[in-house]
Amino acid sequence: MKFGDMPRILIVDDSPTNVQILAEGLKADYRIKVANSGASALRAATSHEPPDLILLDAIMPEMDGYEVCRRLTAGDATRNIPIIFVTANHNEADEERGLNLGAADYITKPFHMSIVKARVRNHLLLKQKTDMLESLAQLDGLTNIPNRRRLEEALAVEWRRASRSQTAISVVMLDIDYFKPYNDHYGHGAGDVCLKAVAQALQSMLSRPADMVARYGGEEFAAVLPGVDFAGAGAVAENFRQAVYSLHIPHAHSSVLDQVTISAGFASCHMPTGDSYTDLLAAADKMLYQAKSAGRNRVCGTKLG
Ligand code: GH3
Ligand code: MG
Ligand code: MG
Repeated sequence: MKFGDMPRILIVDDSPTNVQILAEGLKADYRIKVANSGASALRAATSHEPPDLILLDAIMPEMDGYEVCRRLTAGDATRNIPIIFVTANHNEADEERGLNLGAADYITKPFHMSIVKARVRNHLLLKQKTDMLESLAQLDGLTNIPNRRRLEEALAVEWRRASRSQTAISVVMLDIDYFKPYNDHYGHGAGDVCLKAVAQALQSMLSRPADMVARYGGEEFAAVLPGVDFAGAGAVAENFRQAVYSLHIPHAHSSVLDQVTISAGFASCHMPTGDSYTDLLAAADKMLYQAKSAGRNRVCGTKLG
């Protein structure tokens, strides 16, 4: 949920009248989507524009609201969407069941629209905080670029996508040359400033929305390049190397040049299969090692299948 965007609410109910009452009351403040069955609710919740909150009818033919709720709270992509049951069921056991399934709230009909609005607003505020915490947990604190966890999540998703569509995928591993002597001579504070500058330089080289560069470890970075083949990955890796070179950060204790440089290793897979991306990372890491032993400030790459 992005700050400033109008939040999206999905209303799930098999009765058009119920949908209309809720939609009328909420449409001034929210973008409303509607689903008239459990199956279409699940589709809407996993679409590329997922809702920020769901108002869910408990009783529906075929798949009921409880089952929808169970599936949404079990799904990685949907577990953080707050669900509010809106139902004519006054039964305490049903309310308990809904809440135990992970629903955020339970509203019984007939309801006061002003109370529905207040509950919706409160749950959306909580959702906004959860989303903010999640995005912070995926950023590296020093450089403000994605961290290793974020990169590995993205790589897992992109690897599956590439396997399904049989499109190429590449990764690049990057490591600052002689960074230990840099820290030793310029101090840890200067080392941190250098890491931030390198991170920004690498990130500024990304052009496609699905590309990602992350801080992988201390002075190591990694990039995921979905849809990029061997030749393309080599060009990107070379751009990364040049971007850092062009910063011209003085380094009097490097054995390569009198400024900060990086080495890069990349690996590309043109026909990804299986669900393991670790071979791709391992191959890129091996290429990085090769670039280091061949003299640093250079790029080495390999193609797997
Ligand atoms: P090579 O050219 O083979 O990569 O040598 P290197 O000196 O860069 O590699 P090494 O792995 O020996 O040293 C990495 C250094 O990175 C050591 C550590 O002090 C520094 N480092 C790791 N994380 C941070 C950090 O967050 N801040 C700072 N300032 N330094 C860091
Ligand atoms: Mg290094
Ligand atoms: Mg290192």
